[in-house]
Amino acid sequence: MIRIGNGYDLHRLVEGRKLILGGIEIDHCLGLLGHSDADVLTHSIMDALLGALSLGDIGHYFPPSDPQWAGADSMKLLTQVYQLVLDQGWQVVNMDNVIVAERPKLKPYLPAMVDSLARGMAIAPNQISIKATTNEKLGPVGRQEAICAYSVVLLESR
Ligand code: MG
Repeated sequence: MIRIGNGYDLHRLVEGRKLILGGIEIDHCLGLLGHSDADVLTHSIMDALLGALSLGDIGHYFPPSDPQWAGADSMKLLTQVYQLVLDQGWQVVNMDNVIVAERPKLKPYLPAMVDSLARGMAIAPNQISIKATTNEKLGPVGRQEAICAYSVVLLESR
């Protein structure tokens, strides 16, 4: 038995916030705005995991209205979401992710993000693909007003 899920997330880029993607702090003059650490990649992965099992979305499990998630480390939330997947009798086969950001160049950070996500889910780095692209200066992402991420996750029964 296999199941597939997809996820998408976008957060606004602002001054005075850290830029965290896949649990890795990226050196940049802007960061993502959000109730948690606004780690847009980790959020899209969580939504893909939940979507694969028709378990709703992260807003259901970690509502932004709940103060206990203020400034939350999204990697800890990912570990919880993946534990839910494991508890339901499923495990990741592989996942493929795209981060869309005009700046900064993310390529040097991708191996660290893969390792960080692999650690957070206790899976192998070669089960995780992360690609980075720009939006060719078009739209809010292209104007550096936001960063977004897309994820596809394949699960198999354990
Ligand atoms: Mg989000």
